[in-house]
Amino acid sequence: MATLQSLLEDIKKRNKGESEFHQAVEEVFASLEPVIEKYPEYLESGLLERFCEPERQIMFRVPWIDDKGQARLNRGFRVQFSSAIGPYKGGLRFHPSVYLEIIKFLAFEQTFKNSLTGLPIGAGKGGSDFDPKGKSDSEIMKFCQSFMTELYRHIGDSVDVPAGDIGVGSREIGYLYGQYKRIRNEFESGVLTGKGIAYGGSLVRKEATGYGLIYFVDEMLRDNGHVMEGKRIAISGSGNVALYACAKAQELGAKVVAMSDSNGYLHDENGLDINLLIRIKEVGRGRINEYLEFYKNATYVEKPEDVWSVPCDIALPCAVQNEIGLREAQMLLDNGCIAIGEGANMPTTNEAISLLIEKGVLLAPAKAANAGGVATSALEMSQNDMRLKWSFEKVDNMLKEIMVDIYNSAKFAALEYGLDKNYVAGANIAGFMRVAQAMKEQGV
Ligand code: GLU
Repeated sequence: MATLQSLLEDIKKRNKGESEFHQAVEEVFASLEPVIEKYPEYLESGLLERFCEPERQIMFRVPWIDDKGQARLNRGFRVQFSSAIGPYKGGLRFHPSVYLEIIKFLAFEQTFKNSLTGLPIGAGKGGSDFDPKGKSDSEIMKFCQSFMTELYRHIGDSVDVPAGDIGVGSREIGYLYGQYKRIRNEFESGVLTGKGIAYGGSLVRKEATGYGLIYFVDEMLRDNGHVMEGKRIAISGSGNVALYACAKAQELGAKVVAMSDSNGYLHDENGLDINLLIRIKEVGRGRINEYLEFYKNATYVEKPEDVWSVPCDIALPCAVQNEIGLREAQMLLDNGCIAIGEGANMPTTNEAISLLIEKGVLLAPAKAANAGGVATSALEMSQNDMRLKWSFEKVDNMLKEIMVDIYNSAKFAALEYGLDKNYVAGANIAGFMRVAQAMKEQGV
């Protein structure tokens, strides 16, 4: 008879060489051990095996013409992982590191994340190895149009609803939406989320992942006898998630002293001026070291120095997968870090997670803590469906409530299985249970 271990081996064999996917499945299986003990039918019926196999994987050619008139080629991907609880839902990532396996592991993670929101959204992820860095606006537009010229046939407001991710913001969503609308000759606003406010986007969507991360961490801190106020925070990444996490953390009285990008990190002991950073990044599309022109006392420390060497109470990894390994975890522990909130997807390796939890660090896992973005996307879909527009305050309050609910789901699922304060396990269990229940009821 199959055991969790033998199934894990089979999955690794079936998905040979896909190390991120192996890592993600392994982390989940470690959490599911007590669940399978209680509900062996999930393993015996083959449900868990099906759960780990994407429903559909799409890979396509994306030709486009650059500003010099030269034909260029990239690859496009969409992995439609699970439709058990709603239409496939998840972001598009444009980055040179993208290939099918990366998108697949992200879509697997998305299944848990979207389930935890409690909203009717299934899971998918997509993207391209296209590198937006250094491309002109017209090249970005042409690429997006070509990408959508193939993708349109696979999506729809109750089929699959993409949104942004790394390298895809409201500008790209605008070009993608424009092309979809042109091809379909229909104003189907619910087909993409993260749209501009002028044509069906939701207020708070831009801020949602960062805000949601802080709402989650704030709830976790308070529940464990701490407060956000006065805490020192270090953040990796300087994209949308990092910027708005920084803004909300400061609003709640914390001091963000460091933020990184792919070249190094910015350090300001007085706390970063987030309005300036937002201006540099969003308006100027610049780099964070431009901050030094305005604040002479700040420093920019180049790689290989690590942002995690800056002493902090709370670390917010908001860059990429596997940025906190054993070495970085040890640095954080040595500097007295008490909590980690994962803004990026799977930023902590499995070994580092074990070490941090063993040492009593409060770890808010990505699947739960960064679900605010996709949750607000679901709220955008609701507004599009109803042809309504909600106020900033209304959406923000709904987001806050959703994040507190997610925290409680992870907390109580962990408690139920004797894993008190292990929010990583709690999020995996709670996310799994809802989808598993739906799959069971819908049959093979
Ligand atoms: N890319 C974000 C995520 O991974 C947002 C996805 C969405 O809004 O659909 O959750």
